Amino acid sequence: MTNDTIFGRILSGEIPCQEVYSDELCLAFKDVAPQAPVHLLVIPRKPIKSLNDAMADDVGLLGHLLLVAKDVANQSGLKNWRTIINTGEEAGQTVFHLHVHVIGGRPLAWPPG
Ligand code: AMP
Repeated sequence: MTNDTIFGRILSGEIPCQEVYSDELCLAFKDVAPQAPVHLLVIPRKPIKSLNDAMADDVGLLGHLLLVAKDVANQSGLKNWRTIINTGEEAGQTVFHLHVHVIGGRPLAWPPG
């Protein structure tokens, strides 16, 4: 599988990132345009375009991404945080490589815009 998105280029090492966690399945790094004091992204190494493109075989990978999101949130000192997966352009997805946002460090309003 190929992936020519900006996240694919981060995974290949072509573009640098501020890494906070890495393993054989995923990478977590700081968002370049943080929306809160803590704003991290957890991405699978597998180039799944969006949650809508995930398959039954990806169940373990998807669970892993959430557990890593919890770990990096805790390691960042967060006790309250929000995980967000934007799916599709109208939902705000701009990078078509599945990613979990971890946002916290300030009060977060609900509902989101
Ligand atoms: P989304 O809008 O849900 O697709 O989220 C994409 C996120 O990727 C945005 O929050 C961007 O700020 C972030 N982003 C884009 N390019 C980079 C980059 N090179 N390094 C880190 N974060 C990035």
